[in-house]
Amino acid sequence: MEGTRDTIVVAVDFSDTSDAAWAAACRLAAMTNSDLHLLHVSPDPLAQAWTAEAIGVDFAALARDWREQARVRLAAIEPVAGLDDARITRVVATGVPHAAIIEYAESVDADLIVVGTHGYGPIKHLLLGSVAERVVRQAACPVMTVPHRSVGAAGVTTTAAVTTPTPRESPNA
Ligand code: AMP
Repeated sequence: MEGTRDTIVVAVDFSDTSDAAWAAACRLAAMTNSDLHLLHVSPDPLAQAWTAEAIGVDFAALARDWREQARVRLAAIEPVAGLDDARITRVVATGVPHAAIIEYAESVDADLIVVGTHGYGPIKHLLLGSVAERVVRQAACPVMTVPHRSVGAAGVTTTAAVTTPTPRESPNA
């Protein structure tokens, strides 16, 4: 829309694949003069399988610790491609990654979500059941998937694919 900037949400789990997504999202945000939301989803300790056997654990404190650690790691992520740091909003959400990414994107009326994928080639790069695959299937806005491919010691290359939403699937899929 004229006069307003687009909003890009990039989801990071601090892996090499999300590093590639971050770099691509920065380039895109710099090129399109967009605002960039850098999102990490911290797990809910109560949703972990091991909690059934955990006695005396302060789950609220644990969740706070995990969120704080994630905030520190997000703060250390620097923009690339000349993107102004003032354009970046760093956010830690809690929950199931694909659901929390989609919910956050909707809450900020995102124009695009960027996620990483493993670089297994054009067909297999979206693995069934992966966070990226679920976001692509269920998000209401376009999603850019950025595969990560190692290229020897020289670094990484990325190519991106953008999908636009199809009729909504169940968020429980
Ligand atoms: P995966 O399907 O687990 O290989 O993750 C693919 C991509 O989903 C990552 O590169 C991130 O972009 C995103 N992602 C996965 N887990 C999280 C998380 N906990 N918080 C934010 N983004 C995530």
